[in-house]
Amino acid sequence: MTAPRLEIDLVAITHNTSTLVDRLRPKGIRVTGVSKATLGSPGVAAAMLRGGVTSLGDSRVENLARLRSSGIAVPLTLIRSPMLSQVDLVVRSADVSLNTEAVVLDALSAAAIRQHTTHAVVVMVELGDLREGVAAADIVDLARTVGRRPGLRLAGLGTNLACQCGVVPDKRKMDELSRLAEQVERTPGHKLSVVSGGNSANLNWALTTDDVGRIDELRLGESILLGTEPLHRRPIDGLRTDAFTLVAEVIETKAKPAQPWGEIAQAAYGVQPPRRDTGTVRQAILAVGRQDVDPDGITPPPGIVALGMSSDHLVVDVGDHGVSVGDELTFRLDYSALVRAMTSPFVTKAERSALPRVREPAHPLDASA
Ligand SMILES: *Cc1c(COP(=O)(O)O)cnc(C)c1O
Repeated sequence: MTAPRLEIDLVAITHNTSTLVDRLRPKGIRVTGVSKATLGSPGVAAAMLRGGVTSLGDSRVENLARLRSSGIAVPLTLIRSPMLSQVDLVVRSADVSLNTEAVVLDALSAAAIRQHTTHAVVVMVELGDLREGVAAADIVDLARTVGRRPGLRLAGLGTNLACQCGVVPDKRKMDELSRLAEQVERTPGHKLSVVSGGNSANLNWALTTDDVGRIDELRLGESILLGTEPLHRRPIDGLRTDAFTLVAEVIETKAKPAQPWGEIAQAAYGVQPPRRDTGTVRQAILAVGRQDVDPDGITPPPGIVALGMSSDHLVVDVGDHGVSVGDELTFRLDYSALVRAMTSPFVTKAERSALPRVREPAHPLDASA
């Protein structure tokens, strides 16, 4: 098989999804599976659906279009505010979008009317993380704006924390979202069908709080894909952290002096920290680089230490491992490394599923025979 490649274990993704869905169900919280780190992979989306998500979300309308054309039938949500220049595509590819700007709502409504449909809107509240969101004081007004647009339907409220500034989605923040939802619902005709509390960073709150108020949905990506929670980047109990593996091929192995020689200036990506080792290092070069993956987000196998990465080369100290040219080494990835690997055209994506393949009849006539 070609390298570098990203091996994707769909069984692990289904396991993580169903574990989280089962834990959140008693709280009255459903899960939107967020596929953005996988470029909207239909295989990953199907694995999430097998695990029990009720809808799918992605930040890129192109990824939603890919999911839509793969025949996925559940509601699709655009989880980044739509670009004004893409409203027609958004209405075509997404059932729902998260919104904060009246001018975009006007354009979405006009696009929906042009397409003889209605588009559902979740209005996002700013609760302190300082990324997307409308001030709490302006929420009722913007919800009314949605209600007055003929092409739009007000689906609900949402918020997003822990992305820009690391603000923790705790009980205070979630209670405020519930309070705002109740305030919006005081307007006749404004019954909200979703109150979307946030992302994987909300899991600790959701799973340790008895009364989750009006919150009835979370949008989960990282926890499903990597089995980690983003507040402290710790593994979540009972989830698999091995759904994604980066495989790279060795192109050189040599014993080299531990210290470089000559006058030292910048390396390809800036000043390198001085090397501590002395003597000789058993060094290998792998054909993978910063064009493929974030060097700070990969974990080599035990006993192997990454020494540095340039655009196309990863240099490792292989220690006592017997590593030869042509061998493959595998690495774990964090979210940043995963996103970079998924978006690199040089990295082959290999989705593995233990489920038996559906055997199709050789010819349509055979099926009816
Ligand atoms: C990325 C994103 C999510 C999912 O976040 P995870 O931490 O991967 O669960 C949810 N909502 C919004 C608005 C996002 O941008």
